[in-house]
Amino acid sequence: MLEAAATGKLSGDGIFTHKCHAFFEATYKFDKVLLTTSCTTALEMAALLIELEAGDEVIMPTYTFVSTANAFLMHGAKLVFADCQPNYPNIAPQEIERLITPKTKAIVVVHYAGLACQMNEIMHIANQHGLFVIEDAAHAINASFSGKPLGGIGHLSAFSFHDTKNIIAGEGGMLVLNDPQFVERAEILREKGTNRAAFYRGEVRKYEWVDIGSSYLPSEITAAFLYAQLLHLNEIQAKRIAIWKYYQEQLLPLAQQGFFELPQVPHYATVNGHIFFIICKSEEERKALIHFLKEREVCAVFHYLSLHSSPYFKQQYEGQPLPNADRFTTCLLRLPIFYALNKTQQDWVINSIEEFYKGN
Ligand SMILES: *Cc1c(COP(=O)(O)O)cnc(C)c1O
Repeated sequence: MLEAAATGKLSGDGIFTHKCHAFFEATYKFDKVLLTTSCTTALEMAALLIELEAGDEVIMPTYTFVSTANAFLMHGAKLVFADCQPNYPNIAPQEIERLITPKTKAIVVVHYAGLACQMNEIMHIANQHGLFVIEDAAHAINASFSGKPLGGIGHLSAFSFHDTKNIIAGEGGMLVLNDPQFVERAEILREKGTNRAAFYRGEVRKYEWVDIGSSYLPSEITAAFLYAQLLHLNEIQAKRIAIWKYYQEQLLPLAQQGFFELPQVPHYATVNGHIFFIICKSEEERKALIHFLKEREVCAVFHYLSLHSSPYFKQQYEGQPLPNADRFTTCLLRLPIFYALNKTQQDWVINSIEEFYKGN
């Protein structure tokens, strides 16, 4: 960050932004990436790039963060919420098929906790119906589907470097452009509707207002912080994955005795150690466990509240009940997972859970 400051250019698209771009393009073979101020703004750019018209529908999971929905809603989409798979909070491909209409324009997927959605089936459905696929890859850094990096499969993808994610920059995000038709316009939207990016490359003689746009590029201070994280990516990931696997292994006996469910890793997905969760039998049991852990100074928290039944959306929701998502809303519980979590602390969490279910 001092180095960035010393260059005298703190606005966006300087040396550190380019280093981050080069890192992602080399490491994950993404054709083109653009750092953004957040995953939310990367999703907004995706919404603008697919050029939604009045009445266009976008199918997305109901079990997700509000940004997945807001980005498309703000740019004119009619939101169509889909249910999860029965045993995992990812969108169910057969749900997508059920919800497609002549007005469907795009499908947004969220790789919950960094475990891949069934992308072969989803891309197949999208191709059959001529739909765009956007990956909300906020959880999905350094994870893959059948060997392909997540974020590199849909037409567009959005990553987050928010404080709560694996690789962080305070606030920050990235748009991945896997379809070359979007590249030129994405650079313009990101630079307030001007062709400044092309101007800096010497491709045009002056920069002008050529389209709509906003300010979607982060400062060099943010990019420098992010770049330092990227230099430690393998170390950060190894630590988080070890924590994730240790929970999985240590909690397996309780899960086998039927006290709760553990995340199932499909053969096509990899673990990236973003979120570890258990699925409790009921909301009351989850509440009791949260309370029990809190008394032992363990912070375990639930996660998304299905968007179709949120205060903002429930009056306008016209679809069917989405029972799988409702079950994750009421029964999913996240356990502490962060880089600095040590073995003693993790054993304390695990022992406390054992104590809750089995008594002393
Ligand atoms: C964190 C998150 C976002 C938003 O990321 P920001 O970088 O904070 O905008 C969007 N979608 C999902 C699934 C997230 O977890």
